[in-house]
Amino acid sequence: MKKNILHLDLDTFFVSCERLIDSRLQKRPLLVGGTGDRGVVAACSYETRRFGVHSGMAMKVARRLCPEAVVIRGNSSIYTKQSHLVTEIIKEKVPIFEKASIDEFYADLSGMDKFFGSYKYASELRETIIRETGLPISFGLSANKIVSKVATGEAKPNNQLRIDHGFEKSFLAPFLLGKYHQLVQKHIKY
Ligand SMILES: [Mg+2]
Repeated sequence: MKKNILHLDLDTFFVSCERLIDSRLQKRPLLVGGTGDRGVVAACSYETRRFGVHSGMAMKVARRLCPEAVVIRGNSSIYTKQSHLVTEIIKEKVPIFEKASIDEFYADLSGMDKFFGSYKYASELRETIIRETGLPISFGLSANKIVSKVATGEAKPNNQLRIDHGFEKSFLAPFLLGKYHQLVQKHIKY
């Protein structure tokens, strides 16, 4: 029997948390991370990405690329608290799940097929998380973790994507030379 594996990922998580606290930051280019000489971008809003900014980049470089960005040091205790809220919602709705990082989860929905349909269930779970936390989140649903994770990346920002059983290979084909190899290396432990 094929499995139904859900991958959920909060969109630009630290940025979204900062926007919850201060709504004036909505739609403005935003960088979260170290502001010192060796500071690194921990998260950046979509508005900064068209300037070539990405997370992990030196803050100095990011500020040069996108001078109009608002820069925030970040507050890990707030992110931990928000992550916990999301985890609690998932825990309540899904018996088998795994927290892969502060803003990323896998859940096995295989057993739910006959009752709800996994996709419908995942859609409702995503709506509940958005409604109860105010945080945008995306998901991918497929027969395995790798395909679901790639699907989440394609669904973003703030959307969802289902890859039906049997379509895994054709979905992954465009990624085979790029993203897929990186993903397999990164997730070989699964
Ligand atoms: Mg994320």
